[in-house]
Amino acid sequence: MSFKRSLNKVEGLFSARKKIEKEIEEIQKLCQHPTKSIKSIQERLDSTTMVIRYVCNECSSVIGIPNHDELQNYLKQ
Ligand SMILES: [Zn+2]
Repeated sequence: MSFKRSLNKVEGLFSARKKIEKEIEEIQKLCQHPTKSIKSIQERLDSTTMVIRYVCNECSSVIGIPNHDELQNYLKQ
């Protein structure tokens, strides 16, 4: 019985996550990406590999890859 209850909780969380992901997608689609920063982020959601990318300050979209000089400057900080 407790197994069933925990399964339902997970299902609830999955559906909540779906809703949140949809909301993020909408925000990112409408965003004009006015300002960006270089950040170290996960390559993918299911990955532990960190990569350095230009990320929008407003919506956290990955919008570019820094060039060699920009990368060196970032790493010096
Ligand atoms: Zn943006």
